[in-house]
Amino acid sequence: MSILISHVRHHAIRTSGTIDDACQLTVFTDSRKNCPSGLFIPIKGENFDGHAFIHSAIKNGAKATLWSESVPLPDHLPLDFPVFFVKDTLTALQNIAKDVLIQRKPKVIAVTGSNGKTSTKDIIESILKTKFHTYKTQGNLNNHIGLPLTILSMPENCEALILEMGMNHFGEISLLTHIARPDIAVITNIGESHIEFLGSREGIAKAKLEIIEGIKPGGTLIIDGDEPLLNQVKLDQCQVVTCGYNKGNTLRIVQVKPDISGYDFSLRGSKNIYHIPIMGKHNVKNAVYGVAVAKQLNINDVDIEMGLEKCQLTKMRFESVEGKEGALLINDSYNASPTSMKAAIETLKQLPAFKKRVVVLGDMYELGPDEEDLHRSVADVIDPPISHVITIGPKGKWISDSLIEQGKPCYVQSFLTKKEALPVLETLLDKTTVILFKASRAAELEELVEALREKK
Ligand code: ATP
Ligand code: MG
Repeated sequence: MSILISHVRHHAIRTSGTIDDACQLTVFTDSRKNCPSGLFIPIKGENFDGHAFIHSAIKNGAKATLWSESVPLPDHLPLDFPVFFVKDTLTALQNIAKDVLIQRKPKVIAVTGSNGKTSTKDIIESILKTKFHTYKTQGNLNNHIGLPLTILSMPENCEALILEMGMNHFGEISLLTHIARPDIAVITNIGESHIEFLGSREGIAKAKLEIIEGIKPGGTLIIDGDEPLLNQVKLDQCQVVTCGYNKGNTLRIVQVKPDISGYDFSLRGSKNIYHIPIMGKHNVKNAVYGVAVAKQLNINDVDIEMGLEKCQLTKMRFESVEGKEGALLINDSYNASPTSMKAAIETLKQLPAFKKRVVVLGDMYELGPDEEDLHRSVADVIDPPISHVITIGPKGKWISDSLIEQGKPCYVQSFLTKKEALPVLETLLDKTTVILFKASRAAELEELVEALREKK
């Protein structure tokens, strides 16, 4: 990796180790991780400063380190241990990642949006890997540290890199898109997540649209064309592809048919019927973003169909789990916002053939001063065939309060803790039951799924 040189060669090297040696190393930032032949990049976080853990990094395999000039070197460093001084290690990490992309030139596909980033990223990868060597953000490593680390861990032969970009403040997507310089950028939707920091849905849209700043000239922006805050966007140097159900979209979804494993759907002007083996109607649109990306990269319809058919989402996103007594559990407990919670409930309503449709809903965080109203608004979509609503936690209780006030025709019960809810859920398990679990990450509703799943 000769890239490193451009960012550190002007700085003093403490020992006789050469930068060329460091260039062969694998970058790591977590000193606890075992990384033989690693180049340690200590990052200053909110609570800890990685520079303090250099000794542990060395014990775990670091062969050299970058070092922020402003931080004094600790005592007792081995004298022959190479230290490359930079102004700021985080900026160095980001610059190195940027240079790696310039040098290796994979097609870069960036995905942002309030909801559906990880799902869309997974779907895009499933299609692109029918034709390219691909690599994607692992899990949710989608911020100013995770994104450069993702880039630096991409295999040598990577031809298409799919990067998830997350944010909760203005300026964050701008930084990420300038590092990634995407050929294709996708904005999946505008919801309410992080409204606390961004003020309004307009603010959220503005923050997501920062992604445009980094798109390469001649590149493509793919957006939710049903979202008025996005669909007016016009760009001089890039093509805009809109996806959705409304008239006028470039890729317009005209038919959606649910089946027990997922959906069939088709697009206007094409005879193809695509199938996705994943639940959640929102995933039809996410799949169309995948089709849009694939078409930009000249992947043919047969391969697109095959890629969609094989896609699997990361765990805890509308994941089907076999429950005790033959019940179906839907583990969507990875995260939640009012938009995604409502979307998941709508999907549950549309599933064929279940007598008892139970939703277990927990607290949603970071919703700002309107959090009570936003929780209460979830009750608006809870109608038959939803038969049981169990809420967990003090914020979740707002949903049950609203349901009771509105006199909705379903069984409603609220609990403060998961432990209290468990015995009630156990009484509902049988072959005619489906239970959806959804809340913010911190609620860890997957613990309930674990307690109720069929153990083999
Ligand atoms: P995070 O910000 O936590 O990384 P994410 O944007 O990566 O979230 P996913 O993990 O893909 O989103 O999906 C989270 C949930 O959002 C899903 O379980 C689903 O309920 C909902 N969701 C997914 N796609 C959409 C969409 N296009 N529109 C609305 N809701 C969606
Ligand atoms: Mg994600």
